[in-house]
Amino acid sequence: MLSKCANPGCSARFLYLNRGKLFRITRESANACGEDLPDHKKRTQRLEYFWLCSECAGEMTLAFRKGVGIVPVPSRGFVQPTVFLRHDSA
Ligand SMILES: [Zn+2]
Repeated sequence: MLSKCANPGCSARFLYLNRGKLFRITRESANACGEDLPDHKKRTQRLEYFWLCSECAGEMTLAFRKGVGIVPVPSRGFVQPTVFLRHDSA
C-alpha cells in the first residue's frame, strides 16, 4: 500500500518518510469466521497507511468515501461529502 503515492494518477514512489504526507487510518473489519467469538473479538482493527508525495500533498488530501475507500481529493475548495483523514504527525 505504501509503495507509491496514494494518488492513482501519480507514479511517485515512496522512498523517504520525510517527503510528502503520511496518513494513518484505523479500519474496523468484521471477522468473517468469528461467529463463536464474544462481541468484542468479532471485530478486528486494521491499521493502514497511505502516503501522498510532496507534489500531490500540496494540492490534495485523502478522504474516506463509503463504498469506495480512500480517495485523493483536492485540499482547497472542497465541500465535504466525505470524512477527512487526520494527518499523522506522530
Ligand atoms: Zn503523488
